[in-house]
Amino acid sequence: MTSTSSADADCLFCKIVAGHVPADVVASSERVIAFRDIAPQAPVHVLVVPKEHYGDVAVLAASDPALLAEVVALADEVAGELSDGQFRLIFNNGPHAGQSVFHVHGHVISGARLGWTPA
Ligand code: 5GP
Repeated sequence: MTSTSSADADCLFCKIVAGHVPADVVASSERVIAFRDIAPQAPVHVLVVPKEHYGDVAVLAASDPALLAEVVALADEVAGELSDGQFRLIFNNGPHAGQSVFHVHGHVISGARLGWTPA
């Protein structure tokens, strides 16, 4: 899995960050962008994405913990603005965990009373 922080020309979310692919952007900070998921699974389903390319959230956490903290802070901001401030934040990490876009992103799921489990 890629761990580089330089933009990847083949990466969908790098293209969204660069503005080359359109997205419904709901918030951004210096190093993180948040846009609505194209196939929402909840009333609020937003992806919070570091603008730098990391493929694996554990690599991001080890390499730049402040950036991961900024991802969580923007998730909190989005849930506060679009919902009641309560949210689930999911990182699918690896294909067996359901990751399909290999640029780190947290799914902010909110706007409904959520059940458990995720399987
Ligand atoms: P993953 O499966 O990697 O955890 O999540 C990838 C997410 O990206 C999926 O929920 C999928 O619906 C979303 N997605 C895929 N392509 C696009 C796109 O072009 N635009 C947006 N906004 N979301 C996308």
